[in-house]
Amino acid sequence: MQFTEAQRIKNLPPYLFARIERLIEEKREAGVDLINLGIGDPDRPTPEHIIRELIKEAQNPANHQYPSSAGMLSYRRAVAEWYRKRFGVELDPRTEVVSLLGSKEGIAHISWCYLDPGDTVLVPDPAYPVYAGGAILAGAEPYLMTLYAERGYLPDLAAIPGAVAEKAKMMFINYPNNPTGAVAGESFFREVVAFARRYNILVCHDAPYSDMAYDGYRPSSFLQVPGAKEVGIEFHSLSKIYNMTGWRIGWEAGNARVIEALGRLKSNIDSGVFQAIQYAAVAALSGVQDSVAEMNEVYRERRDALVDGLNSLGWRLQKPKATFYVWAPVPAGYSSESFAELVLEKAGVVITPGTGYGPGGAGYIRMALTVEKERILEAVGRIGQSIDRVQF
Ligand SMILES: *Cc1c(COP(=O)(O)O)cnc(C)c1O
Repeated sequence: MQFTEAQRIKNLPPYLFARIERLIEEKREAGVDLINLGIGDPDRPTPEHIIRELIKEAQNPANHQYPSSAGMLSYRRAVAEWYRKRFGVELDPRTEVVSLLGSKEGIAHISWCYLDPGDTVLVPDPAYPVYAGGAILAGAEPYLMTLYAERGYLPDLAAIPGAVAEKAKMMFINYPNNPTGAVAGESFFREVVAFARRYNILVCHDAPYSDMAYDGYRPSSFLQVPGAKEVGIEFHSLSKIYNMTGWRIGWEAGNARVIEALGRLKSNIDSGVFQAIQYAAVAALSGVQDSVAEMNEVYRERRDALVDGLNSLGWRLQKPKATFYVWAPVPAGYSSESFAELVLEKAGVVITPGTGYGPGGAGYIRMALTVEKERILEAVGRIGQSIDRVQF
């Protein structure tokens, strides 16, 4: 038998971290006490009241059947109510919200709704890899909008060649940003709306970190700016703000025609989110939000420990206002990969090479604040001992 892989699979970029993963495995087997700052996955448990709701609803046989693929109306209402309270954005829960099996699922599938083979899609670089991945699976060609530190990691829309903008059908953006920790204000979102109108582009804003922010900063929703709903949608998720990455529930909100299209596609692919999980999500979105503030305080302490620690070693990092990522340049003489390997080899600390998020991540590394503060301090101490002098 010979199985020929489809071109769309062959087109996916090669997996970059095979070498580093082999190294991690070796270290683990050798019994090295690894400190993993590599993955953006909350380490603390889901808040108790959300788990209790899941347990209760899991015991109701009515929830054991197929859910509707768009999501229960009560879930979509809870999302709409959350948007109203949090951002002052009005959404019709029947037509402007659809449930997702985690936002990753919707991000990967939206390209199937709007991109044909050969189409152009604007994708930030560096970025969460699923934007380009989903587009490539649909046969489309990502045009990379490089994000530069000097511009606060906002894409320079004026630098996109007119011919590319004319051809582009979709654009992905993501603030607060993974991997850079950058934030965007309403003025940038207004610029995006104007650009999208001018070139007839569907804007997909990915906002899973909208409520993971520090020092009094409150991120905006893309849907807050005038005209956003005419040109776009926002992906969101319970994963990061309620420590629910394993539960797989999120949503897409905004333009009703786009919501309908993704819902139609999904009704051919999946059968929705387990209803007990939807009830638990309603409890999360509608309940007291103390756990969010508490988690943010935990991440803020960890952020301060990591950034102050790295700065004491010679870095000159600003503290990110949002997300649980610290994005840092590598010292002179290293590439993203060689520095990540050095830190793993000599310090037993796992960090992610910036190139994992696209060529624009070269020269950077990403660290996630997903271990206890004591472990972060330990990681900084070990990094300090493993490199002689940090120069840039
Ligand atoms: C974590 C993450 C997601 C995926 O979240 P899920 O809802 O768990 O699928 C999407 N986008 C970005 C930028 C993320 O960091």
